[in-house]
Amino acid sequence: MANLTEQILDLIFPPKCEVCGRIGKEALCQKCAAGISFLAPSIFFHAVGEYEGILKNAILRFKFKRIKRLAEPLGLLMVQYINHHLWKDHLDMIIPVPLHEKRQAVRGFNQAELLALKITEACRIPTVSGLLFRKRETAPQFDLPRQKRISNIRGAFEVRGAKLLYDRNILLVDDIYTTGATAGECTKTLKAAGAKSVHILTLSRTV
Ligand SMILES: [Zn+2]
Repeated sequence: MANLTEQILDLIFPPKCEVCGRIGKEALCQKCAAGISFLAPSIFFHAVGEYEGILKNAILRFKFKRIKRLAEPLGLLMVQYINHHLWKDHLDMIIPVPLHEKRQAVRGFNQAELLALKITEACRIPTVSGLLFRKRETAPQFDLPRQKRISNIRGAFEVRGAKLLYDRNILLVDDIYTTGATAGECTKTLKAAGAKSVHILTLSRTV
């Protein structure tokens, strides 16, 4: 029955690529996916691609238009990146960069968590969302000048349940890397709580 309903709905509202509008089942069509170029790994952090073009467009729709089905293809881009560049066996858990609970309530989801869960499905590294918290609301980093970003985010995170982190190798996941202030502050907080290592993987980095 569900299948028939789905088929009828597909006839009335044909599923389409969320970026270019091409009719098809995938939230991101193959042509769009092929238009995203992967970045080479860096020593300090990993980003799948530049925050521009198709990738930027897809992230904006995912995050601000709340098109959750984009988590699937965007998460898979991160999985492809991990398969090429990261040593999966050395990672114990994935921690998504948390949103403040108020912002998460407004958006309805944490985009970093949805991406992390896609990585968990494919790579079998557990996502643990209940360890790192954003304890105070901060202005969106994106809107701030570079020098204000560090002071804006300082002391914004806390760990609850440090025992689970002790001596663990963490993959910290986020959607956009800008100056690195957020990822840096999360890393500092996780290490202070006993994490052995923190690797940063974001879907994109600003140009
Ligand atoms: Zn497309």
